[in-house]
Amino acid sequence: MVESIPDEQRLDRTREETPPTVSELDSPGKSQDLEHRRGILFVMTGASGVGKDSIRRVALPQLGDIHFSVSATTREKRPGEEHGSQYYFVGRDEFESLIANDGLLEYADYVGDYYGTPAAPVDEALAAGRDVLLELELVGARQVKRKHDDAVMVFIAPPTLSELERRLRGRGTDSEEKIQKRLARAREEIRAMREFDFVVVNDDLYGAVEVFSSIIRAERARAGRLLDADIAAFLRETDA
Ligand code: 5GP
Repeated sequence: MVESIPDEQRLDRTREETPPTVSELDSPGKSQDLEHRRGILFVMTGASGVGKDSIRRVALPQLGDIHFSVSATTREKRPGEEHGSQYYFVGRDEFESLIANDGLLEYADYVGDYYGTPAAPVDEALAAGRDVLLELELVGARQVKRKHDDAVMVFIAPPTLSELERRLRGRGTDSEEKIQKRLARAREEIRAMREFDFVVVNDDLYGAVEVFSSIIRAERARAGRLLDADIAAFLRETDA
């Protein structure tokens, strides 16, 4: 049975920091200084099992300063996962209090569990001029786009659905029912692909990393992002 994707919603955190408490996650972001460079918000979306994590892990070390947002989730920890590293693993009550306190930039119910981005770390990184990367399913990605119109939306596609199914089964972490639900969500997400700015096909990991990294670099080079102060620096005729 195809699960329908609800349309409203909002949650974030950094790997190098210690796991936050819920009250820390609740603090609202800072306001922006217009002459100060804000970071670029990148959203990576694609089916569970498509390889978003692998692309990110290979690409990020080559991309300079970029804050990867660690999400909160109510799903069970998989073997090898740690609280504060892949996710903040929280109970439903804790997650619902994050929602109630407006502590989430976005959130979604995915195959029976909540997933969301704690808002404060994302706001803080962007305000400090740091680029931010979110890894989200489609419902959350849409919410982020509504709040941050200038977010750069990147869809990661599997070469085929049967390849995705092979990868999901190969992972060996989900029941047959969950695999079917994840595949149903994958179909819905693929149908929505044209809502995104870019599509990266993860056929070969290193090819996908190259395309993904090029997107980040090209967005950083956009002339439209230059501030008056940048132009003034280019016009300077004496060495600093
Ligand atoms: P998994 O259970 O395989 O780790 O993740 C399931 C799906 O939830 C994946 O598509 C993943 O990208 C997505 N996801 C992970 N964190 C978040 C989040 O904070 N918000 C939303 N909306 N989706 C997320």
